[in-house]
Amino acid sequence: MRVGIGYDIHRLVRGRPLILGGVRVVSPVGSLGHSDGDAVLHALTDAVLGAAALGDIGDHFPDQDKAHRGRDSADFIRRALALAARKGLVPVNADIVVIAERPKLSAYKSRIRARVAALMGLPVSRVGLQAKTHEGLGELGSGRAIAAQAAVLLKERKKR
Ligand code: MG
Repeated sequence: MRVGIGYDIHRLVRGRPLILGGVRVVSPVGSLGHSDGDAVLHALTDAVLGAAALGDIGDHFPDQDKAHRGRDSADFIRRALALAARKGLVPVNADIVVIAERPKLSAYKSRIRARVAALMGLPVSRVGLQAKTHEGLGELGSGRAIAAQAAVLLKERKKR
C-alpha cells in the first residue's frame, strides 16, 4: 500500500468556468489557470503521482506547454493513473477536501464524487469529499481563491 497527498489552489476570477472534479459548478467566478483550472483533479493527480513517487503534475504537464492550455484536467488524472499502473499500482480509495467560501458545494458533492470515481475506476463508496469554508480568513475566505487537498491510496496489483 502506498499513500500520496496532493494540494492545489487557483485564483477565482470573473469570466472563467468553475470546474471541480470534472463537474461544472454554477458560479459568477471561475478558476484562473492554464488548463481548465480544476483544483480537485489537480490535487488528485498530484496525490496519485505522489503515491507512486512519480513527481508532480508540473513535471508531467508543464503549464508553459501550449498543449495544456484550456485542457480538460481529466486527461491529467487519467495519465497519472496510467503511469502508476505501469508500476503495477492501482487505486484503492481517494479522499478530497475542497476549501472555498463560495459557491456552496453541497448540491454538487454527489456528482463530483461520481465523476471522480468514474475517472479513477473506483466505486463511489471509495471516494470521499468534504467541502469546507475558510471561515472568512485570508484569500480563500474572501472568495478570491479555491483550494483542494487530496489523499490517494494505491496498492500493488496482484500478479497473474
Ligand atoms: Mg492547478
